[in-house]
Amino acid sequence: MCGIVAGVSGRDVVPVLVQGLQRLEYRGYDSCGVAVHQGGLKRARSTARVAELGEQVRLESVASGTGIAHTRWATHGAPAVHNAHPHFSHGPSHTSANGAAGRVALVHNGIIENHDELRAALQAKGYVFESQTDTEVIAHLIDSLYNGDVFAALQAAVAQLHGAYALAVFHKDEPHRVVGARAGSPLILGVGDGGKEHFLASDAMALAGVTDQIVYLEEGDLVDLQLGRYWVTDGQGRSFDPAQRP
Ligand code: GLU
Repeated sequence: MCGIVAGVSGRDVVPVLVQGLQRLEYRGYDSCGVAVHQGGLKRARSTARVAELGEQVRLESVASGTGIAHTRWATHGAPAVHNAHPHFSHGPSHTSANGAAGRVALVHNGIIENHDELRAALQAKGYVFESQTDTEVIAHLIDSLYNGDVFAALQAAVAQLHGAYALAVFHKDEPHRVVGARAGSPLILGVGDGGKEHFLASDAMALAGVTDQIVYLEEGDLVDLQLGRYWVTDGQGRSFDPAQRP
């Protein structure tokens, strides 16, 4: 089980994401990657060290106020670039190979136990899979449930997942929004710059030097990060300020 870092800010979050992955390297990993909202979806993935991923994002000018990043410890599918996170959905009958741009970008820590059934149902709807991971089914599932609100799509998707997950997700049509979920894998929320920027991470250590204002999410929580605002929703669907958690 490895690492997630994600954020929404008015500044470029990619240096925070890459540095966060470096702080999570101690957990061990076999590949790493970062995806951002930059016009559409853009990503860099690597089976090399996080430092080399950092060089790759610099050379490829991957920069945005909205992004997600991951270090992977493969459970389903070999350690290879095409299995590295972030995963993209492309919509039914589209693959990146035929030029369709991605719609949903997603990172996941954990294991989805019912991935075979979900994959079969999504393939029947025309979704084309590009990896051997259990994770890619979640990206396509959220895509299939999307109706203009990525938080609502995530909420509907997690109701169909069996297993363990920490997730961070964004959609190409919602450029300043990252949503997340926690069940069986760790995920924390960091409030930075006096509430102007927000981050998700597997461990508060990933955000050292960025913020020490940490909100510890509970099992079953969903989170919705937007520019300068965030909400936490518990397993019963109640939204609240975590400081006032009942
Ligand atoms: N099960 C997922 C995979 O194999 C996520 C592994 C992880 O937690 O890093 O890609």
